[in-house]
Amino acid sequence: MDQFERLSQLPLRDDLRGQHPYGAPQLDVPILLNVNENTFGVPLDAREAILKAVANELDGLNRYPDREFTELRRALAAYLGHDLTEENIWAANGSNEVLQQLLQAFGGPGRRAIGFPPTYSMYPLLASGTGTAYVTGVRAEGYALTAESAARQVREQAPNIVFLCSPNNPTGTALGLDVVEAVYEAGTASQAIVIVDEAYAEFAHAGTPSALSLLPGRPRLVVSRTMSKAFALAGARVGYLAAAPEVTDAVRLVRLPYHLSAITQATAVAALRNSDSLLANVEHIKVQRDRIVNELTAMGLAPSPSDSNFVFFGGLANPQAVWEGLLADGVLIRDVGIPGHLRVTAGTEAETTAFLEGLRALLGR
Ligand SMILES: *Cc1c(COP(=O)(O)O)cnc(C)c1O
Repeated sequence: MDQFERLSQLPLRDDLRGQHPYGAPQLDVPILLNVNENTFGVPLDAREAILKAVANELDGLNRYPDREFTELRRALAAYLGHDLTEENIWAANGSNEVLQQLLQAFGGPGRRAIGFPPTYSMYPLLASGTGTAYVTGVRAEGYALTAESAARQVREQAPNIVFLCSPNNPTGTALGLDVVEAVYEAGTASQAIVIVDEAYAEFAHAGTPSALSLLPGRPRLVVSRTMSKAFALAGARVGYLAAAPEVTDAVRLVRLPYHLSAITQATAVAALRNSDSLLANVEHIKVQRDRIVNELTAMGLAPSPSDSNFVFFGGLANPQAVWEGLLADGVLIRDVGIPGHLRVTAGTEAETTAFLEGLRALLGR
């Protein structure tokens, strides 16, 4: 009996029957540029600070952690600025859990969320897991999303939740704040919670504004962030949101008590105290990101403008063959299932060089 048959013998929820667990391939390859991690790793001084902070927790590890993770919320508010306080902040095990909690609180059976594909593939999965209907909005040619088009679609669909991803994954492009403002206005009739997923905000070109600046006076607006990308802490699982205090109170109704372990809280607080050191590599990654865009353009490919730590590029006759060819060279990138396109994370200079040289050889350019 295979795994699938065994599973089908269980009284599984009908909507989960026939489904496969989601996740990008985790392969043992020297150069991993497929899930937009920060490939520089955690700098030594931050490692030492985290180690010390975690060691300090061991004494109290027999006790449940601070359910309100107040010190962490305070540190996150200070990091974000924009006059935010701990009342505005909520955190969870990755921003994926933050998004799930928002769907648990504001979505659910009989309610619906809208996203604008191509966008983060977890939105429909999180919607499905919480019994929330998911409506797919449309983008213009070249994946642009204008304020006018997004607002019209939100008025038409009257969703309970809107997902805006900026910079967008997988395209890499940031949205103008006019889009966020227009969507928020358009969501007034359906009282939509508007989530702006800014997982890649730290990588944006200088002068790109954050939706954090729109929070005052907008109680239905939520900005989601993560320590998985710029902070190089994907393995620690820390994501967070900034919103009006009543949004955090709503999420408290669905969170599990003590969902953030003492080890997680200590790690995140220590990392935030060392944010200068941790974020120093963001500038190096941005240089490699811009280099990828320039070199792919010179190869005759069509990269999208990127404000993130990855580049989405089209113009490939056979993306599957390119993906496989790079893998054979020890470079893992991402096939996001969009015809003619692939996505690559900007790594260190050496990793980026390996990707570019491998690609050039495969394309004969
Ligand atoms: C990587 C990513 C996240 C981060 O997820 P975590 O659970 O915080 O690791 C969130 N949103 C988008 C669009 C991402 O690409």
